[in-house]
Amino acid sequence: MTTALGRYETVAELRRLLAERRGAGDTIGFVPTMGALHAGHAKLIERARRESGFVAVSIFVNPLQFDRADDLAKYPRTLDADMAMCQSLGADAVFTPTVAEMYPAQQACTIHVERLADHLCGRYRPGHFDGMATVVMKLLQIAQPDMAYFGEKDAQQLAIVRRLVADFNMPVAIVGVPTVREPDGLALSSRNTRLTPSERRKAIALPEALRAAEAAIRAGVTDASEVIRVATLKIPVDEALRLEYLEVVGPDDVQPVTTIEGPVLIAGALWVGATRLIDNIRASR
Ligand code: AMP
Repeated sequence: MTTALGRYETVAELRRLLAERRGAGDTIGFVPTMGALHAGHAKLIERARRESGFVAVSIFVNPLQFDRADDLAKYPRTLDADMAMCQSLGADAVFTPTVAEMYPAQQACTIHVERLADHLCGRYRPGHFDGMATVVMKLLQIAQPDMAYFGEKDAQQLAIVRRLVADFNMPVAIVGVPTVREPDGLALSSRNTRLTPSERRKAIALPEALRAAEAAIRAGVTDASEVIRVATLKIPVDEALRLEYLEVVGPDDVQPVTTIEGPVLIAGALWVGATRLIDNIRASR
């Protein structure tokens, strides 16, 4: 028998429900998202379903983490389809707070991320990771889950969230879930829906560049600037494409690596028309 999936819009309602479930002995698995759910999000929910007694998904497009008003305005919102996906994956509750519920007054206290936000997206999206860390802190305080699930697709975000819970001694296990890709290698992203068919074909340059970097490292190249040069050659000269960054960094400290001697993260951001896509791949010497 399938039970109807509960949708909760207030902090008080969700807290009451989760306290009840915790009291009944369930472990709580929590999957924070911004909605427009796709097969990448599904992997997180499925993993939470396997590992926890009660699965809560949040859908909240957090204005604090958007550095461009047009990106926030254009962010896809597909609540009915999202609810259907959560239901079919066996989630137990979906938390869909309004902006006013999450931010009843302007935050006087926010999280500021040092160092880990200095490179990759942090360099190009001022305030993004402070806004992300602030909302993740709020959501984890609201849900108080045993486990929280995040995608490796957003590797810098995952590194920062791991550090956030360590720095603030939060009793939650952060679980990283591998990136889900289209058959041609493009990482699934809610923003992919904004690509025109021609842009969609061109977007493949980003995972191809990352794969070229990985192959170079596997072939023995240890000079990170050479790895970046080889990878960048995979981005065709095309007026629709603009590579914002392609960097080799340490997977935990997110600091640039000069000589590759152990595990690294190769991460890039590519503008395809008016859409900014990010992706990353891990490689090791
Ligand atoms: P978002 O809704 O974009 O904030 O993403 C919510 C969560 O889903 C984040 O932890 C993302 O890293 C994760 N996620 C997004 N896309 C993918 C993907 N293609 N594969 C795995 N996880 C993903």
